[in-house]
Amino acid sequence: MTRLYYDNPYLTSWEAEVIDVVEKEGKFAVTLSQTAFYPEGGGQPSDRGTIDGIQLLDVIEDGGIIYHIHPSKPQSQTVRCEVDFQRRFDHMQQHTGQHILSAVFYNLYSGETSSFHLGEDYVSIDISLPEISDYMLRKVEDTTNDYIYKNLKVKTYIIKPDEVSKLPLRKLPPVADSIRIVEIDGVDYSPCCGTHVRSLGEIGIIKIIKTEKYKGATRVYFKCGKRALLDYQAKQDIVASLSRQFTASEGELIHRGEALSAELKNLSKEVRDLKEKLLGYEAKEIIAASSSNLIVKSFDDKSFEDIQLLSKQIVSLGDYVVILTSTFDRKILLAHSGKSSIHCGKLFKEHLLKYNGRGGGGDRMAQALFADVKDLKSFEKLLVETVKAQL
Ligand SMILES: [Zn+2]
Repeated sequence: MTRLYYDNPYLTSWEAEVIDVVEKEGKFAVTLSQTAFYPEGGGQPSDRGTIDGIQLLDVIEDGGIIYHIHPSKPQSQTVRCEVDFQRRFDHMQQHTGQHILSAVFYNLYSGETSSFHLGEDYVSIDISLPEISDYMLRKVEDTTNDYIYKNLKVKTYIIKPDEVSKLPLRKLPPVADSIRIVEIDGVDYSPCCGTHVRSLGEIGIIKIIKTEKYKGATRVYFKCGKRALLDYQAKQDIVASLSRQFTASEGELIHRGEALSAELKNLSKEVRDLKEKLLGYEAKEIIAASSSNLIVKSFDDKSFEDIQLLSKQIVSLGDYVVILTSTFDRKILLAHSGKSSIHCGKLFKEHLLKYNGRGGGGDRMAQALFADVKDLKSFEKLLVETVKAQL
């Protein structure tokens, strides 16, 4: 079986003889006389494309043999194969980008690449440095892109194991009879079986997106070529939309954002203070209208947070026991100023389970949440009766 992608990663269309077909779970593993379909390996995902016009499901390698996973059995001995080159070229851009980025991390900061992920979702390398500063990242990014502008040639060739020591390899190759080297014109030499672009200019651009700490190393996320362009376009759209929304130029956006969040913080505090004042008036009205020091009230338009504030206001004004309910949030609270002998938390704990409620509290205040309003109202009734008996 000849691997056509080794010599020409740009070959997208060819004919091959079917060597073998094995059926497994309704799918067919097809082996061919020659193939340009890249199987998954070395961090690079497998190719997609068609055999005789029918879409391939996967391409895998096992024991040195490439299996083309096909939904049906090929109908002829000679088949026509086509690689989905848009997907492949994306892999070539990201993979070659990874080589030069890894080389620059190594050359500038002795950061070794311990793993490489190339997925549809993201592309990343793990660099053996626990800490990478913003300055270092920018330096690596600039240097890598400078190599791309120089459009350095990417060469591939096979060497024998005894020739390994003659090359300044970044990492040692696995033991094998022959080793495939990917060289970026005198700058980087890596043992690799993947597919790469002919010269660095085809990568277009490399942009580092973010980093995160990972097992004592640093995971560096980046985008190359078309992915970087799409990312730039998406981010440009976001910036333009924010500029319109805040009527600020790109340069003013950060300052405008900071000013707005400071203003929001001030306004929130003002609203909170006003609300407290308003609830203070409401507390006085409720007390004035009540004939006993047990105050029971149910609200369908107040949040539980407001009810908590209201109960605080009432008990601060005298020796009151309050039972306040928010049917809106399906919550209830029992509170007093501390002069009553009722232990709110204990009372809740004793009866909540029977009414499918969840909650608890201390001696002066307890609260609970109910799955439905019917249980909430039944619990409220029980509380009123129990508290009345103890007053
Ligand atoms: Zn490679």
